[in-house]
Amino acid sequence: MTQLALVIDLNVCVGCHACVTSCKQWNTSGAAGTLSDDRPYGADPTGTFFNRVQTFEVGEYPKTETVHFPKSCLHCEDPPCVPVCPTGASYKRAEDGIVLVDYDKCIGCKYCSWACPYGARELDEHQKVMKKCTLCVDRITDASLPQAERKPACVMACPTSARLFGDIHDPDSEVSRAIREHGGYALMPEWGTQPANHYLPRRRTELAIHPDELDRQDNPLKVDGKLPRPATSEPSLDDVTSW
Ligand code: SF4
Ligand code: SF4
Repeated sequence: MTQLALVIDLNVCVGCHACVTSCKQWNTSGAAGTLSDDRPYGADPTGTFFNRVQTFEVGEYPKTETVHFPKSCLHCEDPPCVPVCPTGASYKRAEDGIVLVDYDKCIGCKYCSWACPYGARELDEHQKVMKKCTLCVDRITDASLPQAERKPACVMACPTSARLFGDIHDPDSEVSRAIREHGGYALMPEWGTQPANHYLPRRRTELAIHPDELDRQDNPLKVDGKLPRPATSEPSLDDVTSW
């Protein structure tokens, strides 16, 4: 059976959110839309996103690294969100392994979001139905698009090519080769869900920080050990460039 999936290279992702915005744009105006957004510029914004990038810092100062971690439905091969659905709205397609929700059958009971160990499901507060990544099923199966564009919007938008798309059951596919050659792994295998999406780990590189960069004892701007004070009577750059 074909199993379509994303493979995301954490060594290459720069956290620019191009995948997030392109996903939102495509899916809010496509078959999965609209995706609600409330108070986007308010104090407590809320909205439906199929793809989110979480950014956090790992390690201990000064040897810290910033990790950008894109997260969406992993299209599990044994998805716990499917059997718990009382209406049959959640299902896994036999032909390509994509896990989808039939909005016409969903009653918004949220059982699937409790069953998903990855927090991948989002209730659309306006339509009161459960939504999640579809791997842009309406795009990748659109025969009117050139073959090269029949990919999820996030894959097309990623400026660093951190996102690969293909069949992980085909040993010769680009995604299978990337998993094999770069130690690709699935999230939380202990849950037995067999996520189709995989991540490529960050490759270890030694940080090169000169001691001067941490403790500027040798700061060339210092005179007699002190930083020069700007003259208060002269206009500063802030004065010149303020609006
Ligand atoms: Fe279901 Fe969650 Fe797996 Fe997606 S990641 S298939 S929503 S269990
Ligand atoms: Fe099924 Fe919808 Fe309930 Fe999820 S929220 S279990 S898709 S009916």
